[in-house]
Amino acid sequence: MISVGFIGIGNMGGPMVQNLLKAGHAVTVFDVNEAAYAPLLDAGAVAATTALDAAAGVDVVISMLPNDKIVGELYLGEAGLIAKLQSRPILIDCSTVSAEIVRKVFQAAEERGFPFLDAPVSGGVMGARAGTLSFMVGGEKAVVEDASIVLQAMGKRVFHAGESGAGQIAKMCNNMLAAVLMAGTAEALALGSRNGVDAAALTEIINHSTGCNFMSEKWNPWPGVLPDVPSSHGYQGGFQVALMTKDLGLAVSNAQLHGAAIPLGSLVRNLLMLYQSQDAQAAKLDLSSIQRFFAPWLKAD
Ligand code: NAD
Repeated sequence: MISVGFIGIGNMGGPMVQNLLKAGHAVTVFDVNEAAYAPLLDAGAVAATTALDAAAGVDVVISMLPNDKIVGELYLGEAGLIAKLQSRPILIDCSTVSAEIVRKVFQAAEERGFPFLDAPVSGGVMGARAGTLSFMVGGEKAVVEDASIVLQAMGKRVFHAGESGAGQIAKMCNNMLAAVLMAGTAEALALGSRNGVDAAALTEIINHSTGCNFMSEKWNPWPGVLPDVPSSHGYQGGFQVALMTKDLGLAVSNAQLHGAAIPLGSLVRNLLMLYQSQDAQAAKLDLSSIQRFFAPWLKAD
């Protein structure tokens, strides 16, 4: 049994804690919103009143938080974990944030003798519930090995991407590509439909031709083409447009910082911004709902 302090019990953190408990680990939880972790107490989690209390004396600390500022404050703030913790647990940040902030945390952690990993996830809320997340991990290999029992309790795959920050870079590149593929697939299906070609027939042809991709095959954006995907259920569930917009924002900032050109990633971020400015519902819908931007006539269906 490993003792874990878990900070940030939201849509992802909640089910991740459930899976840690199921695997027999002892979990102390903290969230600024008490209501977020109340249901976990019945499942055996222990509540802490501060992040520092949740982290004190445990083997592993995991954070699952919204953004750079909050992650920076948790680890690097004057009253943060690195300044105040007496013990030296493995620190693992699973949030989707910039490579720059996790590298800063890594450096400060290393100076004070803490092992630190960036370990963002893919698989979304469904993957968190099912315990099938993929972890993309940046940091020292030996630390990744030490942390793998805990990560495997919450996910199916643990990839060591490279040194500190590499997990965030891998996640950022994958999500940018996923967004570009989704926009391209939606554009092609809309053009076909505009010309009277049935979207299911067009998908079948694409899936056996050079345009075949994950979105056309497994996350098809046209309603009714696949049965068990968000597009066939009013674009509910799946991966929210707002979250993909955040991830593309990280890619744009990173590209600016490193003088890299990401014309397609930037374009798709702008498309998502425009889509959300035109449709108040869009932010909370699945990414595949970008189909409605390319085929606005679908809205009436
Ligand atoms: P969420 O908003 O549901 O949860 C975040 C939690 O953090 C909230 O409960 C909030 O109260 C808590 N929090 C905020 N500030 C805090 C602080 N200072 N101390 C302690 N708790 C604090 O978000 P989520 O969907 O669980 O996402 C968490 C992270 O995972 C994000 O970085 C997101 O980009 C990433 N992610 C989300 C998904 C997804 O499908 N939801 C998929 C992959 C990655």
